[in-house]
Amino acid sequence: MTAPLCPGATIGIIGGGQLGRMLAGAAARLGYKTVILDPQPNCPAAQLASSQIVGAYDDPTALATLAGSADVVTYEFENVPVAAARSLAERLGVLPPPKALDIAQDRLTEKTFLNDAGISTARHFAVDSDADLAAALDALGGSGVLKTRRLGYDGKGQRVLRGLAAGACRGVVAAMGDVPLILEELVDFSFEFSVIAARAADGTVQAYDPARNEHREGILRRSLVPAGIEPATLAGARASTFALMEALGYVGVIGVEFFALADGGFLVNEFAPRVHNSGHWTDAACAVSQFEQHIRAVAGLPLGDPRRHSNAVMENLIGAEIDEAADLMRQPDTVLTLYGKAETRPGRKMGHVTRIAPLSAKG
Ligand code: AMP
Repeated sequence: MTAPLCPGATIGIIGGGQLGRMLAGAAARLGYKTVILDPQPNCPAAQLASSQIVGAYDDPTALATLAGSADVVTYEFENVPVAAARSLAERLGVLPPPKALDIAQDRLTEKTFLNDAGISTARHFAVDSDADLAAALDALGGSGVLKTRRLGYDGKGQRVLRGLAAGACRGVVAAMGDVPLILEELVDFSFEFSVIAARAADGTVQAYDPARNEHREGILRRSLVPAGIEPATLAGARASTFALMEALGYVGVIGVEFFALADGGFLVNEFAPRVHNSGHWTDAACAVSQFEQHIRAVAGLPLGDPRRHSNAVMENLIGAEIDEAADLMRQPDTVLTLYGKAETRPGRKMGHVTRIAPLSAKG
């Protein structure tokens, strides 16, 4: 990209969930219009955007309309069809580059790419049959996490296997849907954390302070900042994130999830080529949130200051937890964000709350 987008320009966003909604809000603050492509009319992002194209993500007519109405296109979820992103990229800028989607959509490709970039991950094996599984389990000492290579999120499409004898592997691949799988070493991590970072088109990079993340049933529940990470671990994780963005020719915000090990080392679990749930706290605790940072990057603006002015604990409101909203609104130092979802369902992210506190000396 040569010149920054002028105010009044239009940013296309593929996907209309809460991340698209918060991106649309940040874009509006910077004077941009947004157009959302999502099959669901009046989706959460469309409620804040300038317009919506109701259509499937791979519908050629919808994609042509998007290309005709936007100045640059970005996306809010990693399962955007790569062919759709590539066809758009022939007509206008698509950022982050479709290559990042292509790699992130397959856990095996992702780990191979990370390892080739010098970044450590859990040991892993491709599994396409029960015999592959038996061999992989044997190599990993009888336990591991079996995951679908594609389309898994929030712990879906995963099964933890412990002490499984080779003979007990029969039928496991079929039970996982007969799709390509990966068996990962079951990492005995001390805790999980993430680095949310951004890269501009000119190669400038910035990172937010890492968040310590707590999951339940594979879903992020809380992110805490400061994360209480050893400086050497933090420096290494940041350097890995920057190296990954460089290797991808990345532009935009990325979320990289890490396992912290007892010896101070770390492994990358996965990366998301988009703004990330564990970065929601930045909206309440930083001058420039991850959402604004992403819009700045894709619009060709200078990256903003990622420093935080407060400590923060972000908690997702999942399913019926949204009923606590009225109580949360009465609490001091509490920033509540609701996603405008019409229907509450168990396991559905309905909003989040960030509690802020003055910066602690230890950070
Ligand atoms: P994922 O969908 O890969 O992000 O996995 C969701 C959660 O499952 C992670 O945040 C971890 O808490 C847990 N998990 C995933 N992979 C592993 C692994 N290889 N070892 C231990 N825990 C894991």
